[in-house]
Parts: sequence; C-alpha cells; structure tokens
Amino acid sequence: MSDAPAPIGILGGTFDPVHHGHLRLALEVREALALSEVRLLPSAQTNLRAGAHASAAQRLAMLQAALGAGYAGLAVDGREIARGGVSYTIDTLLELRAEAPARPLCFIVGMDAWNALPRWHRWQELLDYTHLVVASRPGAELLRHPAFEHAWAPAPAALLARPAGLVHVCPIPLLPISSTDIRARIAGRRSIDGLVPPAVAALIARDGLYRAA
Ligand code: ATP
Repeated sequence: MSDAPAPIGILGGTFDPVHHGHLRLALEVREALALSEVRLLPSAQTNLRAGAHASAAQRLAMLQAALGAGYAGLAVDGREIARGGVSYTIDTLLELRAEAPARPLCFIVGMDAWNALPRWHRWQELLDYTHLVVASRPGAELLRHPAFEHAWAPAPAALLARPAGLVHVCPIPLLPISSTDIRARIAGRRSIDGLVPPAVAALIARDGLYRAA
C-alpha cells in the first residue's frame, strides 16, 4: 500500500454560469480516474478572454449553490477569487503543490482549452506540477503539442502512481451545453431549465443576471 495522499482533480473555468456540462465533466473524469474528489475552481479574471458577465462573488455563489448537498466527490475551491487579480493556472498549481508535494494532481481541460494551451502563461511548466487530463469526445482529433509529446499516458493508472508530468486523454460523452448559450437564452428570455441545477437558476433569477444581451 502506498501512503501517497489521495489523487484529486481540478476543473478550472469561468463558470459564468456553472452548468450541467461542467458537473458531468467533473463526475465523469472523477469516475474514470478513480479520483477522491474533483474541485471546481473559478478564475477571478483571466487574461485570455473578455471579462466575466457575473461578478466573481456571484459566480462563486452559483457554484456553491450548484453543488449544494447533491454531488458527492465534487467541491468548490475559491482560491483564485480570494487571491484576486488575473488568475494564472501556474500560480494556483504552485500553491496546490506546496500544500501536498506527493499528491497526484489531475488538471482537467476540455478540448477547446487543450488546443489553446500554448496561449497560457508559462504553459510548458504546467506538467512540472500536475498531470493534464484532456476530456474529449470519443473519436475527436486533438492537437498534439510537440512540447508534451513525451508525456502521453494511455492508461489512467499511470497518473495515480506519480504526482505530475503526464497527459491523459479521457474520452467521455460531453453534453452540448455552454455558458455562452445559457447567457444568450436568458438575454432572449428563453428557458434554461435542465441546463443548470435549479438552485443556480434561482440565483440567476433572483439577481437578474445575464438579462442584458
Ligand atoms: P463559455 O461558453 O462562456 O466559454 P463554458 O461553458 O465553455 O463557457 P468555462 O467555464 O469556460 O465554460 O469552462 C470550464 C471548463 O469546462 C473548460 O475546460 C471547458 O472546456 C469545459 N466545458 C465547458 N462546457 C463543457 C461541456 N458541455 N462538456 C464538457 N466540458 C465542458
């Protein structure tokens, strides 16, 4: 028996708002890799896209409401919002690594995020601190970043045997839901039922979020 700390997954994002696509993604990867938990980690600001629509506090509150008591194995990690400023994943990974030097960390990225990885701050250092788990539609073609070519790990078990350094592609069925589409529906006064947990829909309605196009 190894006494290494239990492996965890990290799903970073804007979560503007969180939706069932995010939750299913986190749950599917948790199950596929036998992770003890997946933490949903909202960014404060990102330098890669236009500003968020809801405030950081509102996005965090929606995530907390989404998880409620209903999702065993998922948690919210508010450290980037607490830190403030522009959120760089590398800074967050440095913090997580300092907290648990031997813990296998699996940073989860969707296909779009994986393909855009070379735009991330210090992206070539990411594997020094974490594994990368790329969630992709079965059969989808992924970019192969030459800098990470050495790191491909076909078997998920390899990720649990060391703290960082591998790239694993996890083929999972992805729900066709995006925050962009949800915001457009709200601005168009259309229903978002079934796309977000009811507690999130209630917060959006209470605070009148996303009503301006
Ligand atoms: P937006 O539409 O505003 O770009 P989004 O719905 O893509 O937002 P993000 O918060 O940017 O949500 O996404 C966080 C992470 O979740 C990213 O890695 C993204 O690829 C992934 N993701 C988002 N939607 C889905 C989905 N429906 N299925 C699987 N992964 C998703």
